[in-house]
Amino acid sequence: MTSFATARRIDALGRVVLPADVRKVLGLNPGDLLAIEVNGEGIVLSKAWTHCALCGSHDQLSDYRDKQVCRTCVETLSVGP
Ligand SMILES: [Zn+2]
Repeated sequence: MTSFATARRIDALGRVVLPADVRKVLGLNPGDLLAIEVNGEGIVLSKAWTHCALCGSHDQLSDYRDKQVCRTCVETLSVGP
């Protein structure tokens, strides 16, 4: 597990830029959804769980036209009913 210690200022609108190294290590890309949790006096940011646009599953997701679709649904659609 990689750990970072850094500081960033919050701008007037409450925005904070995540350092490029942090984004790279965590595989965060523009458009990704972040979960924000307040833990005591700290904040935990993590990549938010996304779900399959067809069945709601959180497992084995892949991107398809700006949507997340699970492997089971992809296989079902590939084979047909
Ligand atoms: Zn699915």
